[in-house]
Amino acid sequence: MQLLKDKILSEGQALSEDILKVDSFLNHQMDPMLMKEIGKEFVKRFEQKEITKVLTIESSGIGPGLMAALELEVPLIFARKRKSLTLTNDLVTASVHSFTKKETNTITVSNKYIEAGDKVLIIDDFLAVGQAARGLVEICKQVGAEVAGIGIVIEKAFQSGGKDLREQGFQVESLARIAELKFGEITFAEEKEG
Ligand code: 5GP
Repeated sequence: MQLLKDKILSEGQALSEDILKVDSFLNHQMDPMLMKEIGKEFVKRFEQKEITKVLTIESSGIGPGLMAALELEVPLIFARKRKSLTLTNDLVTASVHSFTKKETNTITVSNKYIEAGDKVLIIDDFLAVGQAARGLVEICKQVGAEVAGIGIVIEKAFQSGGKDLREQGFQVESLARIAELKFGEITFAEEKEG
């Protein structure tokens, strides 16, 4: 997605060979106009899938996830990372190790909102080694919902998550794929793997 790539080139910062900082439009301040276009692009790529729910993980997946859900006119559910005082019954959980924070979280969703028969579009801001996406897939499996696809805003194609998930048969659509990060330098890969 050219608009997103331009934004990454003008505002993204390669902090190291494996971390990209995009705090000015995705991970801290959010650019709603860009998020709106991201939502539309996800919907275009998963048009035929009859999606009934969008599932993401707090907090940075909520912006793009909500925009996709708005475009599809279906609910957005975001998995919680922290214990919630109000989310207490009928919980489905999975364990997710964070690549950036080097910590493991138990993510939680109520089975009231995702259930057998749902066709779920999983959305996240980044794809690195695929732990977050795998945790969300695991939640869908536990409730018997179908994963219709996985939509990622920025895939770091030099890490293993995208390849692994595609090999498992999931349709993974990333709006920008990064081939290489060097301090101060960002190189894109082809949008389609291969
Ligand atoms: P994974 O679970 O695929 O290893 O990592 C994905 C999660 O880690 C995303 O939800 C995102 O929050 C975070 N993440 C991974 N790599 C980066 C990165 O380079 N920059 C930022 N800002 N977040 C990242």
